[in-house]
Parts: sequence; C-alpha cells; structure tokens
Amino acid sequence: MRCSEARQALVAQRDGRLAQSDIVTLQEHLEQCPACRAYEERLQCLNTRLVSPTPRSSSSISTERILLAVQHQKRITQQIKDIQTQQQSRMARMRVIGLPLAAIAFFTLGSIPLLLLALIIVQPDWLVNTISLLGGVVYALIVLAQYLQAGLMFITRDNMLLLGVAFVLVVMMGMWLRLMRHPREA
Ligand SMILES: [Zn+2]
Repeated sequence: MRCSEARQALVAQRDGRLAQSDIVTLQEHLEQCPACRAYEERLQCLNTRLVSPTPRSSSSISTERILLAVQHQKRITQQIKDIQTQQQSRMARMRVIGLPLAAIAFFTLGSIPLLLLALIIVQPDWLVNTISLLGGVVYALIVLAQYLQAGLMFITRDNMLLLGVAFVLVVMMGMWLRLMRHPREA
C-alpha cells in the first residue's frame, strides 16, 4: 500500500466505509510509515474537533470575549471614576480658595468707585492745592485717575464685565497663591 492510498483509506475508515481486508493492510502500512501515522493523528484530532459540539466552543470564545470586554469596560469605568474624584477634589480646593478671593475681589471692586466718588466730591480744593504744589506730574496722575475712573465706571455699569474682571482677578490671585505655595524648583 502506498501513502496516498493509505491516506484515502484513513479517510474512508473515518467515514466507516472501509473494507475489513483494507483495514488490515492499512494497519500494516501505518506500523511502517510514521508520516501516515502523523496524518492519522491529525485526522483524529480534526475529527474530535468536528464531532465535539461547535456551539460550546464558539460560546466559550464569546464568553472569553465578553469577559475581556467587561474587564476593559471596568478599567475604563475605574479611570473615569479616578478622573471624576480628581476633578471633585480640585473643585473643592478651588471653592475653598476661590470664595474668599471672590469676596475680597468684589469688596475691592465695590470700594474703588466709592473712593473715586469721595475724590470727586473733594476734588476742587484738592486739585488747586496739588496742582500748585506738584504741577504737571500730579496733573498727569489726575488725568490717569480720571481715565481709570471712566474705565471703572464703564466696568461697573456692565454687570457681566464686572463679573469677568472679578473672575480674572480671582484667577490671577489664585495663580499667585499657587506660585507662592509651591516655589519653582531650581
Ligand atoms: Zn505512508
């Protein structure tokens, strides 16, 4: 028996359509030929895989995939939770620092127009005195103050603008505090 015949016989044996006499010759060939024995083993292996119910194997694969997906999802959820807790703690810190700063900023911004108003009321005498004393320098300062006053009037007229300025002030003070607390490493 040749190898090709033996392999055909093996397939036929698997399908249960091999004559008894051929089985004997096949066995004789297999005892002599390691290549055909290996072929037989492969055929048996394939056979058991085909015979064993496929739904189980596919379901096991899908279960594995589901488990992997669940683990992946869990990891992502954990990461999101970590980020959320970080944000929450940061927000809490911002609130602790931000509220007093906002109060100070609003108080300062509120008191500046009042001071300017007081300045306007006492301005005539003060103007004459200071101009005669210090001349152009003070005049320039007054002009500057007037510009500032005009700007502040414009700012306080618009509530949103006031809020924006207060916010910028708060941010700047927060940055300053942060820099003061954590000096730059050399
Ligand atoms: Zn052979």
